Amino acid sequence: MSQFQSQCSICHQWFEADENALGQQTSCPHCKNTITVLQPLASPLATAPDLSPTVTKMDWFICFLVACIPVVNIIMMFIWAFDNTKPSRANFFKVYLIILLVSIVLFAVLGGILFATGAILANS
Ligand SMILES: [Zn+2]
Repeated sequence: MSQFQSQCSICHQWFEADENALGQQTSCPHCKNTITVLQPLASPLATAPDLSPTVTKMDWFICFLVACIPVVNIIMMFIWAFDNTKPSRANFFKVYLIILLVSIVLFAVLGGILFATGAILANS
């Protein structure tokens, strides 16, 4: 006998129902109204659990150690960002690379404005 999540048609609360009770009349544990046990199309608990591997403390420790090595850190950031074996680490380094790119663009634009202003002032 397997249990599943069913939704009350009156109060819309979720409750645990037995497979044998499917299509039967029952009393809702929340609102106490008599309802028919229905198989939900998608219950919040029926969604697939996140089985992606956890990035351990040791993994992060190695990441931050490698991040201290010049040049190697940039190469490793790209490798980690597109390594889909550990999605949480990949997401972290994707965001890190986006912020790095935005910083470089801002630095170039603001540096350019500053340089141009300096050149104009020097010529006047
Ligand atoms: Zn109810």
